Amino acid sequence: MPDRRPFIAGNWKLWGTRAQASEYCDRLMELLPDESRRPADVGLCVPFTALDVCVEKLRGSGVKVLAQNMHWEESGAYTGEVSPAMLAEVGVDGVVLGHSERREYNCETDRALQQKVPAALDAGLHPILCVGETEEERERGETQRKLRHQVQEGLEKVPSERLVEVTIAYEPIWAIGTGRVATPEIAQEAIAFVRALVGDRSREAAEHVRVQYGGSVKPGNAPEILAQPDVDGALVGGASLDPEGFVQIVAAAGGP
Ligand code: PEP
Repeated sequence: MPDRRPFIAGNWKLWGTRAQASEYCDRLMELLPDESRRPADVGLCVPFTALDVCVEKLRGSGVKVLAQNMHWEESGAYTGEVSPAMLAEVGVDGVVLGHSERREYNCETDRALQQKVPAALDAGLHPILCVGETEEERERGETQRKLRHQVQEGLEKVPSERLVEVTIAYEPIWAIGTGRVATPEIAQEAIAFVRALVGDRSREAAEHVRVQYGGSVKPGNAPEILAQPDVDGALVGGASLDPEGFVQIVAAAGGP
């Protein structure tokens, strides 16, 4: 059985002034056990303007700081964009790519993600690639078709030996921000399928790549979801804004 360390990442979405970020990090550091006693890797995905505050506050704590988007080019006529090197320069550890909210509201495409995921790796950033189906796609029996497309496109330009450096977040869109968490069975089945897709490229990578679940994870439902054999942690939106609750979710990764 491969030893995959769970990864719990909080996604602040559009939340977090620099003052709020500073206060949050102070509280998180009070609540979170030392890195050696944590059952999971921990990360925060924060707005661009709060990245340096979090990097500074969390330095040496083992808590990873991630951005919520980036462009794949180093420079050019892309007004409003931020490059991989710019994030790395700030001391950021990684970046969330392809979140369904960016796909829906900001025209993020699988074609763009095909450039972004390897660009993040080349800059030394840890990418979390988000995939997931809509409610209609699930009802029409198209979940696997959608996941296959998103995973294959998003990872297409990542060399097989680097696949393991990517984290994939399976986030059914109908569960994001709705309070309707997937059943543990649905999460397990979809995540095992995502893992098998990685296995089509590299069996070894499939054994070691981390696949998170995301969608209305809360302290109350986290233990059951995180206990599933293929679920390697969680991407937590709303519930991550409360440091107490977020730390409980991290603790749930350690089992009952
Ligand atoms: C997310 O932002 O990725 C997410 C899963 O949000 P929520 O936990 O609020 O559903």
